Amino acid sequence: MARITYLVLYLVLAFYCEFATAQSNLVQKGTGSLDASPEIQNRVIVSLDSFLNRIQQQRIDSTDVTGAAAKLSLSMFSAIKYRIWGADSNSLQTTQPTLLKLYPLQDSLYYCSLAFLTNGQVREILTILITFKAGRTAFAIPLNYFTRTWKLKRVGLTTYHYADHINLSRATLFDRKNRLMAKKLGLSPEKFDFYLCDNHQDILELLGFSYDSASAGNIDDGYGVDEGTIFSIRHNEDFSHDLFHYYSAKFRHNKRNSAADEGVAYSWGNPYYTDKQGAMITRHQLVAQLGDYLAHHPEASLLTLFEKNPMIFPSKAKVRSLLSSLICDDIERRAGANGIRELLDCGPGDENYFRVVGKLTGITTENFNQEMRELLVKG
Ligand SMILES: [Zn+2]
Repeated sequence: MARITYLVLYLVLAFYCEFATAQSNLVQKGTGSLDASPEIQNRVIVSLDSFLNRIQQQRIDSTDVTGAAAKLSLSMFSAIKYRIWGADSNSLQTTQPTLLKLYPLQDSLYYCSLAFLTNGQVREILTILITFKAGRTAFAIPLNYFTRTWKLKRVGLTTYHYADHINLSRATLFDRKNRLMAKKLGLSPEKFDFYLCDNHQDILELLGFSYDSASAGNIDDGYGVDEGTIFSIRHNEDFSHDLFHYYSAKFRHNKRNSAADEGVAYSWGNPYYTDKQGAMITRHQLVAQLGDYLAHHPEASLLTLFEKNPMIFPSKAKVRSLLSSLICDDIERRAGANGIRELLDCGPGDENYFRVVGKLTGITTENFNQEMRELLVKG
């Protein structure tokens, strides 16, 4: 009799749990079939429901993630909140997360593809790996799975991950800049994992953002430094521009001065963008292009180009950053790395920038055109 009572109780409870789950699920199944048992499907949906809710409430931590890139996974999952829901913390229900794909990769490890729709439009498609092990559920971005056949090469402090080839002279240059930039700012150079990618969409795919409507047209940007990890575009081994920004943020006490930060990034690092062959656009090339521009626009004011920053180059390189980098070189010639440190820490805005630049070089907004034409000749 007792066993029958327990059985009835169990059935009632099971029915209630299933019903409650069905009522509260945010994640819906897509129209395609899923390659997992009904129990696993339900477990995945319940786990994703809970995980997404905690992401939105910013309550995820290191116990939620697994794998070699666990810290990067945590960083990416934390970013989901802003990519999908933005600043609106009440719109979780309106995004209709839908489970598109679910299949096993190995024992207890499942591949999930999850779409977020807003008003019938695809907003985001996430790829998430879920592990069920020893009563614990953990999540990971697909980086290690998608790059499992890639080669590894250690160059100085950096471990490169790449599918086919590596340019060792560029990798060696990056290692040299890594050490030198850190030293000039009084910091210790750090170790990095560096993934050689071809474009920004490839990077997003590795990070689990299989489709991100806000960055759908972006192919030219790399990603990093995030949790010791860097992703380049056009397979370029030298990510020193953004590495400088990373070190600069660690060094500064004041808020960032963008002209100073970009200027030093162009000087110590590089102008960030590559040509179609993957070779970094050099500052020397940009100085020549600015010379051509001035020859065709003799009335142009260099101060106006600095202040308004119009797009005058064939690439996405910035004339304001180029002019600032020439000034930074002048500061370093006169006052060494200490002068650069003072400029980087001058506080935000052009007024603070020219206060330190004027003190260290004599360049002001009044004599800018004349002084900069002389610096352009020096290149
Ligand atoms: Zn920059």
